[in-house]
Amino acid sequence: MRSLWNDEEARRYPGELGLRVYSSRLLGRDKSLVLHGGGNTSVKIREPDIFGEEREVLYVKGSGWDLEFIEAEGFAPVDLQHLVRLAELPRLSDPEMVEQLKTHTLRASAPTPSVEAILHAVIPHKYVDHTHADALLTLTNNPDGARHVRAVYGERVIVVPYVMPGFDLARECARIFREQARPETEGMVLMNHGLFTFGDTARESYERMIRLVDEAERYLQAHGAWETGPALPAVDSTPMDTLAYARLRGEISRAAGRPMVLSAERDEQALGFARHPDVARIATQGPATPDHVIRTKRLPLIGRDVSRYVEEYIAYFEAHAPQAAEPKTMLDPAPRVVLDPEFGLACAGRTPKEAAIVRDIYRHTIDIILRAEALGGYRALAAKDIFDMEYWSLEQAKLARQGEPPEFAGEVALVTGAASGIGRATVEALRARGAAVIALDVDERVHELSGVDCLTLGCDVTDGEQVEMALEAGVEQFGGVDMAVLNAGVFPGGTPIAELGDEAWREVMAVNLDANLRLMRELAPYLALAPRGGRVVVMGSKNVSAPGPGAAAYSASKAALTQLARVAALEWAGQGVRVNVLHPDAVFDTGIWSEAVLAARAAHYGMSVEQYKRKNLLGVELNSRDVAELAACVLGTAFAKVTGAQIPIDGGNERVV
Ligand code: ZN
Repeated sequence: MRSLWNDEEARRYPGELGLRVYSSRLLGRDKSLVLHGGGNTSVKIREPDIFGEEREVLYVKGSGWDLEFIEAEGFAPVDLQHLVRLAELPRLSDPEMVEQLKTHTLRASAPTPSVEAILHAVIPHKYVDHTHADALLTLTNNPDGARHVRAVYGERVIVVPYVMPGFDLARECARIFREQARPETEGMVLMNHGLFTFGDTARESYERMIRLVDEAERYLQAHGAWETGPALPAVDSTPMDTLAYARLRGEISRAAGRPMVLSAERDEQALGFARHPDVARIATQGPATPDHVIRTKRLPLIGRDVSRYVEEYIAYFEAHAPQAAEPKTMLDPAPRVVLDPEFGLACAGRTPKEAAIVRDIYRHTIDIILRAEALGGYRALAAKDIFDMEYWSLEQAKLARQGEPPEFAGEVALVTGAASGIGRATVEALRARGAAVIALDVDERVHELSGVDCLTLGCDVTDGEQVEMALEAGVEQFGGVDMAVLNAGVFPGGTPIAELGDEAWREVMAVNLDANLRLMRELAPYLALAPRGGRVVVMGSKNVSAPGPGAAAYSASKAALTQLARVAALEWAGQGVRVNVLHPDAVFDTGIWSEAVLAARAAHYGMSVEQYKRKNLLGVELNSRDVAELAACVLGTAFAKVTGAQIPIDGGNERVV
């Protein structure tokens, strides 16, 4: 591990707080130091209050901020003297500690100070850095942890046996620091938790952190406990049984009491660890640092027996809840990490982002476990300590701050023709409601939508093999398909029947009809497994009830597609799958309508383009978003009891009404 400090870069962060921001970001950049909101930093600054009287302020990381992206506003200014006095109290309850931190924060808009604020206050140095570095966790999650720490650092660090974070830990650290700190002390190791360093400047504190972690890494290297690859069996990446995977995701969702996405990782590290001959032992010791528990739960599910996992979780809760200071309500008992020889490392979350956080944490956990094993054995904290952390009100508050999940959280939607127009607007409408989306299109522009919650795939829906592969990739990424918006379609220019060739006819049918049959057939088993019931929206057309001359192939294909959807509504209702059809008309911001086509149609009716666009009963102009919002609505709870319906969205058309 090397220092990333760069004087030129540092100059862009003026002042004591500026440099605090800078070196915090440097820590945040290295994922083997801190992950997803983990770790915290502070600086003590003398500054005048409104009366011009100097006082000491602790600027400490606010809860909810990530070190990598922290700004000056991410630090909460707290009255330092007050915190130091608090640490002298014999005890302080969690609610009272939070009350004290909040009421002694000196800026109304500041975030809630880190729960480790008092610990930062009692360390007398100006800058304090705290990480949950992988290398440190490898050394300390070990039967011989304290000896390894001494072997690496000698007397340059203070060692604090594990105490749960919060007031008691701060008080204990204050005591030990008072008794043991010497001028040459560079850091403080918290067993099974992490590392503190400190210094007079931001750089000194940061570089001590890097140096101490680097020494731990070198120690692991010297003891043959660094390269984790050889410990893993070689893996082949034969495709997995995606239907069995969707079933597993369904069971996890049921256990969680809400839909969950399940993202499979099947590279060498993930599959290798899941197939490790000793996985059932080494992966069931517990997390590498207690605050991971709120993301990963204490233990992964090994294999696929969700109901047994749930039973064991309930037993764990019942064993430890009675000893808690106040009554606890059990959290959902669903696993967040699954290790399966076929599915690799699968991570569950209410959103793809949550699942990705679980994945990042667990990948580091795998390294820590394998290295600790090579160093003599991985040994995590006892279940009781992990329980205390999992059910600690202040940890749960971190999750509660995320608020209520949006309507489609944990659900997965597949959208065809997603690169532009109605398809693209639908992808956006579904993502805005919390869905994970599998976006398909032959058009390269589909990749502009790519994100953690959107898997974009180049796919020609008329090619059966491509559709199958896209579906497999989508299910592997998110765990299933709960909703489908069958939107891809073509609208060739007007050709009278007398001139309509077989080829042109077949081309339209292939995209607008045949491809949708294939999609429905392939999607059926997944829709039947959807935790909240599967839903399909089919894009029909006004032409179904009000065809136009010159659009024989298009009108016929959409009419047949509508009939296909109606039959699907009949066949799938028994499995709770709803199928409804939207009939849009005159949505001019789609690929079908070029400027030229629009001008020609307007001229045909003797209208200006503006008049032509509003040629409907309500006199309104429709756009893709209007259709997308309706599609999302039809997929949502308002339409929970509607299937087989056909809804025009056209501003009102006298031929349809
Ligand atoms: Zn910590």
